Formats: sequence, C-alpha cells, structure tokens
Amino acid sequence: MAEQTESKSRNLLRRLKDTLAEDTAGQARLDQVVGLIASSMQTEVCSIYLFRDAETLELCATEGLNPEAVHQTRMKLGEGLVGRAARDGRVVNEADAPNARGFRYMPETGEEVFPSFCGVPITRLGDKLGVLVVQSREARAFSEDEVYALEVVAMVLAEMTELGAFVGEGEALRARHTNPMLFRGGVGQEGVAEGHVWLHEPRVVVTNPVADDPVAETERLRNAIDQLRVSVDDMLKSVGQDPIDKEQREVLEAFRMFANSRSWLKRMEEDIAAGLSAEAAVEKEQSAARARLGESSDAYLRERLQDLDDLSNRLLRILTGQGNDTGAGRPENAILVARNIGPGELLDYGRGELKGIVLEQGSVGSHAAIVARAWAVPLIVHAGGQITSEALNGDHIMVDGDQGIVHLRPDETVVSAFRDKIAMQAKAQERYAGLRELPAESKDGCKIELHMNAGLIAELPSMESSGAEGVGLFRTELQFLARNSVPKRSELAAIYSRVLDAAGGRRVVFRTLDIGSDKVLPYMKREDEPNPALGWRAIRVGLDKVGVMRMQLQALIRAANGRPLTVMFPFVAQFEEFKAARQHLLDEIERERKLGHVLPEKVEIGTMLETPSIAFAPRQFFEMADFISIGGNDLKQFFFAADRENERVRRRYDTLNVSFLTFIAQIVRRCDETNTPVSFCGEDAGRPIEAMCFAAMGLRSLSMRPASVGPVKHLIRRVDLGEARKVIDRACNSGVQSVRGDVMEWLRGEAQ
Ligand code: PEP
Ligand code: MG
Repeated sequence: MAEQTESKSRNLLRRLKDTLAEDTAGQARLDQVVGLIASSMQTEVCSIYLFRDAETLELCATEGLNPEAVHQTRMKLGEGLVGRAARDGRVVNEADAPNARGFRYMPETGEEVFPSFCGVPITRLGDKLGVLVVQSREARAFSEDEVYALEVVAMVLAEMTELGAFVGEGEALRARHTNPMLFRGGVGQEGVAEGHVWLHEPRVVVTNPVADDPVAETERLRNAIDQLRVSVDDMLKSVGQDPIDKEQREVLEAFRMFANSRSWLKRMEEDIAAGLSAEAAVEKEQSAARARLGESSDAYLRERLQDLDDLSNRLLRILTGQGNDTGAGRPENAILVARNIGPGELLDYGRGELKGIVLEQGSVGSHAAIVARAWAVPLIVHAGGQITSEALNGDHIMVDGDQGIVHLRPDETVVSAFRDKIAMQAKAQERYAGLRELPAESKDGCKIELHMNAGLIAELPSMESSGAEGVGLFRTELQFLARNSVPKRSELAAIYSRVLDAAGGRRVVFRTLDIGSDKVLPYMKREDEPNPALGWRAIRVGLDKVGVMRMQLQALIRAANGRPLTVMFPFVAQFEEFKAARQHLLDEIERERKLGHVLPEKVEIGTMLETPSIAFAPRQFFEMADFISIGGNDLKQFFFAADRENERVRRRYDTLNVSFLTFIAQIVRRCDETNTPVSFCGEDAGRPIEAMCFAAMGLRSLSMRPASVGPVKHLIRRVDLGEARKVIDRACNSGVQSVRGDVMEWLRGEAQ
C-alpha cells in the first residue's frame, strides 16, 4: 500500500480510536464514525448496517443517505448488495450498483444518485456483525488500496462492536451478546439444566484494536511469533517418534508451517502498517482465512483452518499476556459450552462441576457424549449456529436435553416455562424415588429385572438411589479413552475392584474393551477405514491384538479376588469369535491359578448380541453363552442399515417397528430354547414405552441409565404385559409399520 494511503488510514484509525475515549452514547458515536470514514475516504456516503437478529440487517448510521432511513431500512441476510456481502462474508465492489446482481432498490434511503457501491463485511472470527458501506456519485469501482483500507476499518469496527462501543439507548443498538437466542441441536443426553455459561476456550478479548506506533507494534508481533515458534518446537520435541503419535505430530508440523510462513507474517505486518494493533492484525488474518476456507468442502483444508485458528489463538494469548489461563473462574451452576471436547479434557472438569454441556460439534456417540452420559449430565451436540461465539462466560443459559434445545440469555417467559418443566421433572423423580424398594412387576405378575449401565466408578452410587438391581453393562472404554497411553494392568485392576466394592455384592457385567468405529484411542494407530462402524472394532481388535485383551482379562480376574466375576464380549458376529474370546478368558484364569492368585468364586461368560448374524448362530452358541445381552444401539443400526451417528438417518426407523420387534421376540425365543438368560442394554431399554414393549415381547431383564430406572418401573407396574402383547400382536397383524400408535392408544385407554 502506498505510504500516503497508509498514513491516511492510520490517521483515520487514530480518530476512530479517539471516539472510543469520548463520553458519547452509542448512536452519537456511530454517527460520528460514519462521518469520519466518509470524509477520510472521500466518499459521499458511508453507512453502517448491523445485525438486528441473526437474519436481519438494519441501517444503524449513515452519512449521506436520508437520515430518516436510519433504523427503518432493513434487509434479510442475502438480500440486496448489503445482504450479499454479509451472507458471503466477501467484499461487494460495484461501479454500477443498480445493474449489479441482486441489487435491491431502497427508495427511503435516497441512494439512487450514488451508483458506485463498496460493501465490506464487519466480521470477527467468522462471527457476522454487520456491513460497512461506502457509495459515491461517480460511477467507479473502488481501488484495491481503498478496499483494503475499508477492510482494516471494518476490523476496527468489529472490535469496537465487540467492546460494546455502539451500545446505547434503544432496542436497535442493544449490545451483541445480550439478545436471547435459541439453538437447536441433537440430544446427547436427556435431562434439563439451568445455569451459567462456562466457555471451554473463551475468546481472547482485544481491547486495543488500533495502535499508533507501527514500528513498536511490528516488533511486538515478531517477538510473539518467535515465542510461538519456540513453543511449537518444544511441543514437537515432546511428541515421540512412535507411530501412534503420528496424528499429533502432523498437527504440530502444520502449526510449524504456519508459524514460519512469510506470507502470513507479511500480511499481518501490512495490517499493522495500516494502523491496526498486533492483536487486531492477527484477528484480521484469522477472519480472512475463515472467510476463504471456512466454506470449503475439502476436509483437509478445513482441518488446516482449524490448525490456523488454534495457532492464532495461541498467538493472541501470547500478545495479550493471557497465556493458557483462560481467566474465567467457574460460574455457579456451570454449563460448559465448547466447540468440541475430548473425553480427557472433559473428565478434567470433574463430574460435580458441570450441570450441563453444549457442544457446537460432537456427536451422539462421541467420547464426550459417553462421559456426559456416564455423568448423567444433559448434553446437546451439534448445537446449531455459533454458540461458542454468541455465548459469554457467565451468561444465563437453559439446556433442554430432552428436546435438544438451548436457550441462551432466555427472556422471562422462557425462564418461567422452563422452570415449570424442571419442577415437574423433580416431582416425577420424587414419585419414582417412592418406587425404589418396589419390584418392577406388571399387573399380571411378570417381574422384570432393571439394571443400570455405567462406565465410571462415580456412577455406582446411582445404583442405590435409582433402585437398580445391578450393573447390566459396565463399559470399560472410558479408562482407555481418557489417557495418552494404554493403562497398566494394576491400574485397571484397582479400578475394577473399586467398582465391585461399590456394587456391594450385586452383579456387575464387565464388557471388555469396545473400541474402534467412533471410539478411537488417541494412542492407537488409526486406520482410515472406509466404513468404521463395519470395520475393525471391539472383539475384532481384541482377537487380533490379544495382548491388550488378555491384560484386561487378567485385571478383571485380579479385581474379583475371590468374588464372582461376570465378563461379556462386545460385537461378536459369529460363534467362533465367542469361542476364541471365551477361551482366552479360561486360559487367563488358568494362568492366574498357576501364578497363585486368588480365583473368582464363580465366572460367568456372556456376549453382546449386536449383529443380526449372531441371532442366527447355531444352538451350540446359545448353549455355550452363560448369558446374552442385546446391544440395541448397534443391533438396530445393522438391522435397518442406518448409521446411529448420522443425524439424517438415525431417527428414520422406529424401534417399535414391527420387523424389529419380531426380531427381538425371535431372539428371546432362541434364548429360551437353551435357557440362556437374555437382557437388553441399548439406550432404548431406558425409554419407558420401548422398555414396556420389550418386556411384552418376553425380555425379563433390561439395563439402562440409572435415571431411567424409575420411569420404566413406573410404567411396567401400571400395565398388564399379557394385554400389551395382544395389542402388539394385533398391530403386527394389521400391517402397520410401527406398533407405536396402537400401543400409545391402548396406554391412554389404560390410564383412564
Ligand atoms: C449397544 O450397541 O447397544 C451397546 C450397548 O453398546 P455401545 O452403545 O457401547 O456401542
Ligand atoms: Mg454396541
């Protein structure tokens, strides 16, 4: 940029900054700002459009257009040239605006006499805040230098907006981050919670977007980048050469590439020369990269963008002196809001610390979801919109995990409706607590055993409070997922032993390691499989890498230390796999005996039934298995060929679909033929209607989240399962797709 333009730009930024120091109200400051920009850029018109809500832009100040149009002229995102600049996050520069694509005539503004138009999006880290527009009477396109200067100004306006510089009296200038907002996402874990936002990685606040001394500022940036390079090199040194560290090393290599990038540094130095502070320059380039790469459909480019984002945040932390300390203490009733989070990081927060979790990304089967479920903390995944940039630490937030809805800064009506819902749930819980000591026995005398699913020791106390009769599924993945290396046998034995202690003699079914598919160990070489859910997972890994499985089996035997031991193998698809896995356990028992360890008093060896194939296994399989547990989550996904992780298909097929229920009844029949105890431990067992239907199909044991035990028991005690079976059979014979409608109608009749 020519030196003269540079000093003009610096001059403008300085004057903008001075307005911050003045004691002016929001609107007056905005009016002053458009005046300054128009005179400095020598354009007849300068206007600022800000978002009124996520979809609507409003003219908030203008120099040159009809002042009456201020706060009157509005357009939708994508509408007109202003809406287009905002939607695409790109500059719109037109010499002959009325004839440009998408132009929309706004008669109230009197803009018809200004044919040239340049609209520059005001964004901050991908967060759309508004559009800065200049127009002039002369029909010409704005030069590259002029556009660049406007981008720099827009950056400063973004920071000023963020700092609340334009907040004042009146609705139109309400500060960002004060409006109530609603986000819809997927249900990761049911339940409701009210509390305050606790950001996992709070945004770095830049309070000095403009700097007077470009030389000193460039020096500051260079020093910070030097520090950054050293820290990336240190991180790289600390990562071993082991193939299992490959992924982490790749990310760090990408960090190093950016940190040493001349063009990245050059662009930031140009921004500083134009008058921005080092921090604002980093953010400007971060925003520009987001605009360039954010929409890319190329997964590799998107990942690199994430790397650049992470690196820019580190650089900002160095520049602002915020270091790694996020500075935010835990608010009361903290609800964690994160873009995404790993299980280890989540466990670091600790169970009692969080009332709810909201993730912008994540998925129902992600590791974080497993932890949240284990903690019984409401979790929303894929919260639409950009909640991490909308929410501020401490904001009031309500999480409806049943509906997958998040209310950020809710207004009074939402608050009272939500609190009513919480109160109703609390009442229902009280009612369920009253059933704790009573059996889940139907009106016609069928007793159903209700067990709980768990994955952490911390969950065991819920057995007492929920009235569960034992642990029907103890998932052993978490202890493996939340570490950087394979846990030691002694560590595992100590954990399993504490689980058995906490169960106080009640049966605990330990499921051996079920990894692969969506559950990837950070320290295990990742195979890029075309179809991971159908790939190398669970028992397939166990049988191929017997070392880890045998170590886990030894840990379980030692943990039992004379007590009964129940072990179950996941994802068995054919008899041979079960036979082989079972033999490993028998061999380990023999080995432990020879080593002189105390053996379990009794050993039960069972298997999950998660693939349709094993339901058709030979009779000998059912005879050999001491028990079978139907893993409905996986079974259903394979039965219907519908990925349980894919939001587009996962709800497409009802669990009460006639084919699925018929299949369940068939499994129960096969198990009955050999007197093999059978239970159901997928998520559906915790849904009262589904659980009741399973019981009607003959299942006498269900395992579910502790919070579901009460509601399931409540319904089972109210119905006649023989009658329920008749309703289901009638519905099946009537040709309907799902029995749900008939069952619901029958239940409504029963309730009267
Ligand atoms: C299942 O598939 O139903 C099951 C209980 O296993 P997971 O959800 O851990 O895959
Ligand atoms: Mg499963």
